[in-house]
Amino acid sequence: MNPGTNSTTDEEPDAYRLPTSVRPHAYRLVLTPDLAAATFSGDVEIDVTIEERTSAITLNAAELEIAFVELNDSDPDRGYALSPTAINLDADEERATVTFAQPLEPGAATLHLVFTGILNDKLHGFYRSTFTDDAGVEQTVATTQMESTDARRAFPCWDEPELKATFEVTLVIDDALAAYSNGSVTEESPEPGGKHRVRFAPTMKMSTYLVAFIVGPLEATNPLEVDGVPLRIVHRPGQGHLTSFALTVGAHALRFFSAYFGIPYPADKLDLVAIPDFAFGAMENLGCVTFRESLLLVDPAQAARVELERIADVVCHEIAHMWFGDLVTMKWWNGIWLNEAFATFMEVLAVDAFRPEWQRWVSFGVEREAAMAVDGLHTTRPVEFHVGRPEEAQGMFDVLTYQKGGSVLRMLEQFVGPDVFREGINDYLVTHSHGNTETSDLWDALERSSGRAVRTIMDTWINQGGYPLVRLAEDGSLAQVPFSYSGSPGGAIGSGWLVPLLTRTLDAEDTYSSPILLGTKRTASVALDDGSPGQLINAGGSGYYRVSYPPAMVERLATGFVDLAPLERYNLISDTWAASLAGQAPLADLLRLARALVESGEGDPSVWSVLLGALGLFDRIVPGPDRPVTAGAVRTLLGPLARDLGWDPRDDDGERTAALRASVLRTLGTIGDDPEIQSEAARRFAHAGTAVLHPDTESAILEVVASQGGADEYEAILTRYRAPTNPQEENRYLYALASFVDPQLADRTFELAMTEVRTQNAPFLLQSLLANRVTGPTIWRRVTDDWDTLVTKFPSNILPRMLDGVRGLCNPPELADEVTEFVVGHPLPTGGRTVEQILERLAVNVAFGEREGATLAATLAGAMERSPG
Ligand SMILES: [Zn+2]
Repeated sequence: MNPGTNSTTDEEPDAYRLPTSVRPHAYRLVLTPDLAAATFSGDVEIDVTIEERTSAITLNAAELEIAFVELNDSDPDRGYALSPTAINLDADEERATVTFAQPLEPGAATLHLVFTGILNDKLHGFYRSTFTDDAGVEQTVATTQMESTDARRAFPCWDEPELKATFEVTLVIDDALAAYSNGSVTEESPEPGGKHRVRFAPTMKMSTYLVAFIVGPLEATNPLEVDGVPLRIVHRPGQGHLTSFALTVGAHALRFFSAYFGIPYPADKLDLVAIPDFAFGAMENLGCVTFRESLLLVDPAQAARVELERIADVVCHEIAHMWFGDLVTMKWWNGIWLNEAFATFMEVLAVDAFRPEWQRWVSFGVEREAAMAVDGLHTTRPVEFHVGRPEEAQGMFDVLTYQKGGSVLRMLEQFVGPDVFREGINDYLVTHSHGNTETSDLWDALERSSGRAVRTIMDTWINQGGYPLVRLAEDGSLAQVPFSYSGSPGGAIGSGWLVPLLTRTLDAEDTYSSPILLGTKRTASVALDDGSPGQLINAGGSGYYRVSYPPAMVERLATGFVDLAPLERYNLISDTWAASLAGQAPLADLLRLARALVESGEGDPSVWSVLLGALGLFDRIVPGPDRPVTAGAVRTLLGPLARDLGWDPRDDDGERTAALRASVLRTLGTIGDDPEIQSEAARRFAHAGTAVLHPDTESAILEVVASQGGADEYEAILTRYRAPTNPQEENRYLYALASFVDPQLADRTFELAMTEVRTQNAPFLLQSLLANRVTGPTIWRRVTDDWDTLVTKFPSNILPRMLDGVRGLCNPPELADEVTEFVVGHPLPTGGRTVEQILERLAVNVAFGEREGATLAATLAGAMERSPG
């Protein structure tokens, strides 16, 4: 299996689909979990239609033992009850086939199965999660994660998104426990043996991957009524004080989406459930959304702004799915990208409406850049690709689906206009409610609302990898070429796009010109004669492409930097940096813009983040003896800004100043090697003791302290990690452990990742350890030594994230060769394209180092001399 590849296959497109002779309509499922034994028993009645004469029924089942099967006539007068002659379980195909002595005639019937299964530790299907309560006792929660194809581990079912049905869940649980599922509780009744039975209302018709049930010693907040929808947060005991922010965001999202989509919320209640062990960020189970704790539970007074934004994002993302995904669902897994891209787009739109002052579309530029950084590689992939075996869809859960997909939808929305876009979305959701769709159904709806050739435009963005570089020539003509970090197109990078271009004049009026659709055959042009004030391409900044300007225009933009919108400034600097990294523009262009940032008093953290990221790579490729020169350049660039910002929040801080303050202090204290910053960070850390550092700067202070610290600081940070007051603090202290440069301390952190740290976090901790410039190479050896253990221990779907840390191991180049050889020789079962992309990014960094490393110190020193800072 090679997930994420776009290879066409000789097999029929439905080779992996269940036979269609029998279709399910309604499941009545009773489950009795035994948390102590980590097992469960189940009983399910499935109303089906036999569509054509058949003597066998095939459905999905994995890691289940089926003890009893009977097929009952749905007509009690005719009333047959057939027992099968054979029940065959195919472990590889994860299917159960029930065979009967004589053929079954078409018509309605009910399939009854009795089965048992295990509560696994792999964070998929019906699984076990644990936590230690206030009395120090380990408590167990049984919970579910069905997407993509793990409902079959919890109960036998037709586990394909198109086979929608209703689900009526009943859970038989210990009296001390609570139970949650998709519907509201309709009935509770006692059972023998200290148990009781909890019955939930049937769901609407939906896909199996959206079923959820959770049993454990959990609590729920009182319901908050949001226009008739009861909204609750479910959490472990003692965390009720961390629920108010998610309730506020959840209520906003319910109202925002009901209004935007023009369709009422499709379930009868909404629970947002915090799960101690959770592989992904969150999961959009209808009416019962599950989250990792750090993305739901928060004390706003103890949280950094960026942490609050992340929670608002995830809550809005999941609630958007209740309509887009749950009410209207993709036919097959190739459509997963649209599901996720759309939820990503809607999450930003909803958060932007929640707190306009956060300027969420500006910070989305940083996320879009994460996609463009991958999408400019030969090893990129088209957003949509053929999925045969459902596991291949695992390769879709990446930046190209979420961030590129979300970005191209934003580009389209800005091109056709927000109202027209929304009309098309409404048309699509109303037309296909409770049904399943292909991607083209959305384009058709948007064509109806906009009158534009949406399908033709979007096919160029969705069916091929990569994106264009739009070149503005001195005569005002515009043309596109594919952008590539290796300097030449190839691999999966496409060859031409229909580019929706927005442009505006750079004068006092800032007039937007009519939108241009730039194709490959003809060039377009803008007015750019001698007397022209100049033209900004990608006006507003929402286009998913890069722009290059003639030198005179670059100078014009650099001097008028402050007149551009933040996202436009962001694009200018990120496009320039990408061109340098790709070897298509001199580093001097980037450094010219760095001076413009300083001179204009740039205050936007996203705009600065491009430069700070570039400085991080400089720090890796510079030869050791030149390091003081680079560090000095960093201090020259950032010193005045740091003095200006200070360490503590101030009354005149803008909404995003805190984030900028944290990044500037972090960069100066680490790669800037600034002794003043380092000693002040140490002073604040020592002084804080058990008190709380300011949440916005805490991570930065910890990172600076750790990068200079020894065993005492390590113990102090580890102790706080082990006894956090909230999930965000736990994360800040955990990841700070990866910043120590002492090899023995790095080793200790590696051991922690292998033992104590939850498997939902350990791969990310290893990623941070590998990304540490000093200890990364040593940790890499440990990773290779313990490879087999790592691969079996951690959830397979987040393992490739661990390897993301190796793309900084570019110096010396021999180390990069060693890394590449090992990774190629040890393919991860779910790695596929993602791992190839990490290796290509490593190669791009190596090439940049070989090109610029030796002269970098001189280049930087020269640029700084011209700086007034
Ligand atoms: Zn999603």
